[in-house]
Amino acid sequence: MIHQDLPLDFGDPSDLTRLRRELRAWLAEHPLPARRPDEEPARFLHRWHRMLHSGGWVGLDVPEEYGGRGLTALHQVAVSDELGASRAPGVPRIGYLAHALLEFASHEQRVRLLPRMLAGDDVWCQGFSEPGAGSDLAGMATYARRSEDADHDRDHYTVNGQKLWTSYAQHSDYCLLLARTDRDAPTHSSITAFALPLDRAGVTVRPLKAANGDDEFCELFLDDVRIEAAERIGAEGDGWRLAMTTVNYERNALDTGHLSKYGLLLARLRRELHERAGGVPDGLVSSVGRCVVDYQVLVAHARRRTAERLAGGAAGPESSIDKLLMTRAEQRLYETALQALPGQLTDVNGAVYGEYLYSRAASVYGGTSQIQRNIIAKRLLRLPSASDTS
Ligand SMILES: Cc1cc2nc3c(=O)[nH]c(=O)nc-3n(C[C@H](O)[C@H](O)[C@H](O)COP(=O)(O)OP(=O)(O)OC[C@H]3O[C@@H](n4cnc5c(N)ncnc54)[C@H](O)[C@@H]3O)c2cc1C
Repeated sequence: MIHQDLPLDFGDPSDLTRLRRELRAWLAEHPLPARRPDEEPARFLHRWHRMLHSGGWVGLDVPEEYGGRGLTALHQVAVSDELGASRAPGVPRIGYLAHALLEFASHEQRVRLLPRMLAGDDVWCQGFSEPGAGSDLAGMATYARRSEDADHDRDHYTVNGQKLWTSYAQHSDYCLLLARTDRDAPTHSSITAFALPLDRAGVTVRPLKAANGDDEFCELFLDDVRIEAAERIGAEGDGWRLAMTTVNYERNALDTGHLSKYGLLLARLRRELHERAGGVPDGLVSSVGRCVVDYQVLVAHARRRTAERLAGGAAGPESSIDKLLMTRAEQRLYETALQALPGQLTDVNGAVYGEYLYSRAASVYGGTSQIQRNIIAKRLLRLPSASDTS
């Protein structure tokens, strides 16, 4: 629970205590339902998402006029904490997409898109990466040509290209899509964002099977897809800034809701060592010790970032520190759990190694660890790079 250990000022705690109490009462009346035998995990989580939304537990920090509760990031964090503590899946990970829309979409688009996103009426995915553009996102090839019809109808784009690793596109209604709109302009000012309905003609979604058996990833093929100018998010050429805003929130420890999940597993590991008193190899004891240190460092960092956010700060390149700390904490925790609790770790699908395998992806999704170090070196520490010195 991130606001208990360090003395930072987070305002009136009674407000949060009340919210936590309300959520606990709600959870007592609305426990996590059982997954139906034929229900896909993504559909089950979506059902849970809708239940959470109906209770008012999604989008706490989104303004009321856009379907949220107009509270703060700390309220959303408190909800994630309580859900984690009750061993229920967290709020759906849509906060980073919602923040992108809040910052870049028009008022009309926010009113139309955000309440449905928060309610789970429309499921969204993120169409950024491509076969030749992951870390080097600016190298994307998907191209949106603005129409120049004979009647000078310039009100739509025709999009061609391919996206890759698009998580849960097969279950999504909309894709926050990036495409190049100018082949001559510098890369960072030639990318534009769109809210693409996935039932549009010319869109093909093909799921891919991952090592843990999940079919989270998809390939997304775009063949002469028509996108209306009104479906553009932000101005033409704003896509790079929107992408950076999105990933800064995606890398943020506060918005992921992972902290309570890590805290619970760590507590379980500590219990296990105590129960086995004496019969535990030194190597395992010291691994759990390192997990505790990783977790405490992450919690302290998250608390500092919470204070900054409450003071009005937006997610910026500092989120790369969150991402590195979360990756280190998560990977070490699941490696250690594999040794300490062999065969006992099950994920929401009942898969024993599912969460361990997924933790291996933490150093890749949302930008790889090498890329986070590059961002910290260049943008936070202002270290010179080879291109500066040549
Ligand atoms: C679980 C998961 C879910 C994902 N979901 C989505 C999604 O929903 N939507 C989406 O758009 N994408 C998604 N992705 C894609 C993800 O963003 C990319 O995999 C990631 O950005 C890395 O890109 P890449 O796979 O092309 O690797 P590459 O960019 O090809 O990198 C390969 C290796 O080279 C290293 N490298 C590359 N450039 C540098 C450099 N300049 N300096 C040092 N090292 C470098 C990388 O760190 C990496 O180790 C997901 C990925 C995963 C694993």
